[in-house]
Amino acid sequence: MINTYTAQVLLVDDKPANISLLTSILQEQGHQILAANNGEQAIKIATHILPDLILLDIMMPGIDGFETCRRLKNQPRTQLIPIIFISAKNEVEDVLMGFSVGGVDYINKPFYAEEVCSRVKNHLKIQKLHKDLLTSEAKMSHLLANYQHQSERLQQIVDHVTNGIVEIDHSGQIIFSNPAVEKLFGYTEEELLNINFFEFLVEPFAQLYQKKIAVHIESRDEEGFLDETLVEIQARRKDGSLFPIDFSLVKIAMAKDVYMAVIHDVTAHKEREEKLRYLSNIDPLTKLVNRRYFDQQFKKEWQRNKRGKSNENQMAFFMIDIDFFKPFNDTYGHQAGDVCLVDVANSIVSHTRRSSDFVARLGGEEFGVIITETSRQGVIQISEQIRSAVETLNILHSGSEQGIVTISLGGVIINGECGSAEDLYKKADQLMYQAKESGRNKCIVV
Ligand SMILES: [Mg+2]
Repeated sequence: MINTYTAQVLLVDDKPANISLLTSILQEQGHQILAANNGEQAIKIATHILPDLILLDIMMPGIDGFETCRRLKNQPRTQLIPIIFISAKNEVEDVLMGFSVGGVDYINKPFYAEEVCSRVKNHLKIQKLHKDLLTSEAKMSHLLANYQHQSERLQQIVDHVTNGIVEIDHSGQIIFSNPAVEKLFGYTEEELLNINFFEFLVEPFAQLYQKKIAVHIESRDEEGFLDETLVEIQARRKDGSLFPIDFSLVKIAMAKDVYMAVIHDVTAHKEREEKLRYLSNIDPLTKLVNRRYFDQQFKKEWQRNKRGKSNENQMAFFMIDIDFFKPFNDTYGHQAGDVCLVDVANSIVSHTRRSSDFVARLGGEEFGVIITETSRQGVIQISEQIRSAVETLNILHSGSEQGIVTISLGGVIINGECGSAEDLYKKADQLMYQAKESGRNKCIVV
């Protein structure tokens, strides 16, 4: 409390009697007293100790009180210490002089103890308020600098982040958008202020989020997510093209009916996912699909075939194996073996006709083929064409009975009664081995 505030007071007077009288008066108020009996000494003590207040006599040997005051006011370290003149010189000019050199008050000698006490008390109070003010000003300007720094940093983030940030009102009117939104949607900053945010979203999401906001306003919640989970939805650019986004909508705390949407374009992410999915289904050497993908597709085609079967609409499954492939690798090396696999794969592919037909590398030198929507005669023709095409490649193979690379093919034409997909595999595999046992370079299709 200011009332109980005690201070360091410097008394400056060439008369020891004055010093001792003032000392006893002010000590009684609880103040700490410092004393000097001339101007130079006063300046030294004030500069060193920085008292809270100075009571300064005017007439002293050496520099007088006015000069002492002037010097104290001229040095930054002491210029804020309040100085009260206390003097027997009581002409108006003296008083005015006292104020003009920087004094805050003037007490005439002889003085009354009460007067000294209350003037000292008042100026200490003012001095304390002044100091507090300076401290708060310093704190405020520090806070302000921090705040400015932080707000500039946030601005930088909002301006440079690749996520779109949009502030909207309850109707979807855009209040603010960051530069990323212009890039993502192809609108200019001005255009964005005149369109409704929900135009960015395709249905049913536009309506869904409009409803969410309506429900939220009804609930009078002050803050919080309207949608805590990021939902992947389709967004629409100015040119009408669509792209996938992750999207979240949040109520901005403290602002009435203002919502913030954060939009993340996930096109690149989706493409990477798609590519990975594709690569995981592809044999890197022959670029054919692998066994896993083939199995999935095979089951689908088989189910479809069971439904729409007719004589002119047959489905067939071939299992194909390169004859004497191990000796080929042993003789010509694995690199030649790889080239041979690619050539055989291409030959097989070139004899499948429909987009629904397809060929897979089932593993090693084994291939699977699905032929769809062909007559029985057509199936047999295709199997023979494949066999012949590989033969015509004329790939030299000293370890083969025919001197060139050939294949054996086991084919099953599927009719409704033939058990499971696994049974078909087994059956085609058996037929393929029959083809090998009966001399190779053969197709057995039943
Ligand atoms: Mg004197």
